Amino acid sequence: MATNTSDKPVRVRFAPSPTGDLHVGNIRTALFDWAYARHTGGQFIFRIEDTDRERVTDEYIQAAIDTLKWLGLSWDEGPEVGGPYGPYLQSQRLDIYAEWAGKFLANGDAYHCYCSSEELEARREEQKKANVAPGYDGKCRTISESDLARYKSEGRKPVLRMRMPDGSTTFTDSIRGEVTFDHNFVPDFVLVRGDGSPLYTLAVAVDDVMMKVTHVLRGEDLLSSTPRQIRVYQAMGVAPSDYPTFAHLPFVMGQDNAKLSKRNGEVSIAWYRDRGFLPEAICNYLALLGWSPGEDRENVTMQELTELFTVERVHSSPARFDMKKLEAINGDKIRLLTIDDLLSRSVPFLIKDGVISGTPEELTIVKTALPIIQERIATLAEVTPMLKFLFAKNFVIDSEELPKIADAQSQAVLAKASEVLQGLSDWSHSSIEEILRAALIEEMALKPRIAFGAVRVAITGSHISPPLFESMELLGRDRALARIAAAIN
Ligand code: GLU
Repeated sequence: MATNTSDKPVRVRFAPSPTGDLHVGNIRTALFDWAYARHTGGQFIFRIEDTDRERVTDEYIQAAIDTLKWLGLSWDEGPEVGGPYGPYLQSQRLDIYAEWAGKFLANGDAYHCYCSSEELEARREEQKKANVAPGYDGKCRTISESDLARYKSEGRKPVLRMRMPDGSTTFTDSIRGEVTFDHNFVPDFVLVRGDGSPLYTLAVAVDDVMMKVTHVLRGEDLLSSTPRQIRVYQAMGVAPSDYPTFAHLPFVMGQDNAKLSKRNGEVSIAWYRDRGFLPEAICNYLALLGWSPGEDRENVTMQELTELFTVERVHSSPARFDMKKLEAINGDKIRLLTIDDLLSRSVPFLIKDGVISGTPEELTIVKTALPIIQERIATLAEVTPMLKFLFAKNFVIDSEELPKIADAQSQAVLAKASEVLQGLSDWSHSSIEEILRAALIEEMALKPRIAFGAVRVAITGSHISPPLFESMELLGRDRALARIAAAIN
């Protein structure tokens, strides 16, 4: 049985293959890896698994690096920072894999396989018909001299296959307990392609050994690759007590309980960033997908996460992604920000949305307005619809809002509001509120929703806005009165 019982300093790695933007599942893994390293005072290693250079691009690698940085998941070894066991890009370690592959071939752990894909396909069909477990049948474990000569004369390029012994592999997964794989279902697998390029199973196992990784926390989808990796450790001559400890994290499901995908929930972390989710909210929420801080707590800071995180608190049952909960946590985190912090995080959204260009005067206005919307927004992207009325150069009321103020009653409200506000000397939100309540609610005997609704549309152009009286104060007397006047008729 393979368990790591040693008390070596923890070395845990996050090893994505960036074939696109990192998604929720990747980042949940990265977060748990990071939290485990920080909790134990160990090293967090970031390794890029880019041997598949057709699918992994430089842009995706850079995006992965930027995403981890943005989330605050700093690594001790990896791209940009280096480290004693580098390089940390697998595409720069090909000679290491080739050297090990050569050793496996020489000592008989692995063998050349010349079967063509057509031959393999034909045999798979036969296996299906005969109802036997699919997978390589070991044909090239022994090749006659004549067959070998024929394959070579045909110019066939062999793959390198690992020889799986009879029997089974058992290891203790920290989350799932003892797991056993019968080798009848783990056929001889390819380590190196015909063109000489290494496969994931070879590269990942060699690197985990060479980089002295002690703990592998990763998604459950990789559970079934574990017996193959353990086979590579054996071939490398690693003692079972030195195998890393495995912990396979539960799947993340979408709202509909199907595996999370674009269809049932957005998966790319960049998508959340672009919609104004805060990195600390994303980390807080993802931490709850499969782990819990205990005591029904839902809000944790990054610091608390590193203090509280243990693998024992990770459950094995699938976690369900809940957008509403993420939004609620994001709103909570927004309310914890200082106004200066909220300002610096909101301004890029306002600039991108064309609301402001970023002048000091504009920033002063935004800063004054933020306290009145901080309680009301769930994402930074909502700052734009909330505050754009303050910056409109040619103010127009949203066309779908126009009918709401066209009726006779609304027009009467606006006329009355205009009349009383013109005589108001103190343009503060409390005076504005006082005078409008007296005129519209008491004198005209209207419901607040009707009365203030009409004024809100006139002032902000929309029925979604910060609190009305504060909005009017911020807008200033002249502009507020001009907007009400324009909304009449
Ligand atoms: N590179 C693999 C992937 O992105 C993960 C490797 C691992 O964690 O073992 O799926």
